[in-house]
Amino acid sequence: MAVIPGDGIGAEVVAAARQVLDAVADRHHIELDYTGYDWSCQRYLSQGSMMPADGLDRLRDADAILLGAVGWPGVPDHVSLWGLLIPIRRTFRQYVNLRPIRVFEGVTSPVRGARPGEVDLVVVRENVEGEYSEIGGRFGRGFPEEQAVQEAVFTRAGVTRIVDHAFALARTRRSYVTSATKSNGIVHTMPFWDEIVAERAAGHPDVRWDAEHIDALAAKLVLQPERFDVIVGSNLFGDILSDLAAAVAGSIGIAPSANLDPTGTFPSMFEPVHGSAPDIAGQGIANPLGAVWSAAMMLDHLGHPGAAAQIVAAIEASLLDPATRSRDLGGTADTRGVTEALLSHL
Ligand code: ATP
Ligand code: MG
Repeated sequence: MAVIPGDGIGAEVVAAARQVLDAVADRHHIELDYTGYDWSCQRYLSQGSMMPADGLDRLRDADAILLGAVGWPGVPDHVSLWGLLIPIRRTFRQYVNLRPIRVFEGVTSPVRGARPGEVDLVVVRENVEGEYSEIGGRFGRGFPEEQAVQEAVFTRAGVTRIVDHAFALARTRRSYVTSATKSNGIVHTMPFWDEIVAERAAGHPDVRWDAEHIDALAAKLVLQPERFDVIVGSNLFGDILSDLAAAVAGSIGIAPSANLDPTGTFPSMFEPVHGSAPDIAGQGIANPLGAVWSAAMMLDHLGHPGAAAQIVAAIEASLLDPATRSRDLGGTADTRGVTEALLSHL
């Protein structure tokens, strides 16, 4: 697999994830080959680009990509996003963004009603189309009538495949899908989305589902997060809901994500939700659990569910002991301490 540690704590948490991957691969007789790439904002600052011109070609044959985090003060977001993350997502047709959210025992959620062990949901975000398009423009600059127009693009094929993915995933869980919509205000794309959800749902009579307007859904996610199983949303709605849900889980340091090409034609990419955290970079105190959980999702995707489950069990065990919780969770352990706890639980 390809490993891109990236910037700041990205490198620290990826190193921890590799230790855990090595240990679990050893036990399950899985052979893991890593090819590391130093693509990052540091590279941009010294060489003028986030990755080399043939970067995407080099990744093409990898069976998966493990990424730490990219981004650094002084480097504009559009450079790190459009110079690396978005080309990878789009070129490799990673149209599913998966973000599992759990409130683990031992973790305090900022949401009073989110009791440990009860919140266990997955946000399935459409990752390549929708509201994040480049179509639009600014008109009438300098005039009082100045306008900005941004088009959202929803294709039947694009909506169908993300909705199908959500329903298939729900069947492996508690068989309940919530679709995020806003068809009372967004009168073209959202009714189209709703229509396709209803059509595809008919093919899964064993899965319960409903549609919620995004505003009400955001409120419910805070008030009753334990209600949800699989939430499917467009690129924008999924983006917002997954950050909201990750906050409910107690710390951004735990949250994992997967950018999947479920067809297996291209490599999928696994990365913690958090960024490079310049404020704590280099101190060895970053919480590695988001990266470790992302690595578990990678093993699951590569066909090793047993090894993946063992990593998640080690995460659960490490969080039960206050001495092996990291500082963002109110504990005292540093990155090495958390990693050693994981290795011992494995
Ligand atoms: P990006 O724009 O790349 O998403 P950001 O600035 O929005 O980055 P992060 O880099 O994730 O956000 O940092 C947000 C806050 O969370 C910071 O205070 C950071 O120290 C903290 N944080 C993020 N990840 C971790 C982690 N793994 N362990 C501990 N603290 C973390
Ligand atoms: Mg951010």
